[in-house]
Amino acid sequence: MEIIRTEGVRFFYDSGEKKIPALDGVNLSINEGEFVAIIGTNGSGKSTLAKHFNALLLPAEGKITVCGTDTKSEKDLWEIRKKVGMVFQNPDNEIVAAIVEDDIAFGPENLGIPTGEIRSRVDLALDAVNLKEFRKFSPAKLSGGQKQRLAIAGVIAMKTEILVLDEPTAMLDPQGRREILETVKKLHSAGMTIIYITHFMEEAAAAQKVVVMEKGKILKIGSPAEIFSDVKEMHRLGLEVPVAAEVAYRLRKKGINLPQKILTGHDLAAALKGL
Ligand code: ADP
Ligand code: MG
Repeated sequence: MEIIRTEGVRFFYDSGEKKIPALDGVNLSINEGEFVAIIGTNGSGKSTLAKHFNALLLPAEGKITVCGTDTKSEKDLWEIRKKVGMVFQNPDNEIVAAIVEDDIAFGPENLGIPTGEIRSRVDLALDAVNLKEFRKFSPAKLSGGQKQRLAIAGVIAMKTEILVLDEPTAMLDPQGRREILETVKKLHSAGMTIIYITHFMEEAAAAQKVVVMEKGKILKIGSPAEIFSDVKEMHRLGLEVPVAAEVAYRLRKKGINLPQKILTGHDLAAALKGL
């Protein structure tokens, strides 16, 4: 079932200069429970699109619906914000409290949720992001990956259905990046709809569907295998492909017969062993 739909969305930032659309006719349909990655070079419109999903920005032209509700409908704004949670690049900007569990409780408290219910939501959220043993910690003591997991926990405590992450791993080390990807995969398995913007192609390869943006437009949509098998096209766009896909592409060019779907080191090793 469709959970988010964008139709002909155009958007312009107010900048006295000539009007260049940041989004230029975006049509996208995302299904409930889907894990969608959005990739594209800097300035291609990824963050602008992300901010449209929970009505932080509204389209100048076209329309966006979340669970059938138009994001322009002012009376439904809080319903939409409750359905669509956002996690941004810098975890330090998202922390509001001095203790981990208070930080997670902050959102539900603002919604006026009863105390008992908040407590059970905090427990659930801590469990979902694997931060149980840190509940009494100061967020300042956490690693970057832990801080981003705390930000995700805050969204989970709101009982959000859709999680939008805008380059959540950009400021993290490899360990932190792995933690976030594992957490996101787990949430997806539990039924959450995931929209994941990233520059790391290994992360995009974990999604079910990859959306490629360029100059405010969606250039193409496909499975990771489809998108990353066209290595030349990705390079032309100034994008990379997962390392294993790149190596497989070069081996194929040298006449080695490998299957199309090679996205991870594991895929590549298995294909080479099978030769
Ligand atoms: P991405 O997230 O893919 O890097 P953005 O959505 O941030 O792309 O940006 C899309 C376009 O909008 C770019 O040309 C960018 O310069 C412009 N833009 C983004 N944010 C603003 C802003 N606050 N004011 C003016 N222009 C902006
Ligand atoms: Mg961005």
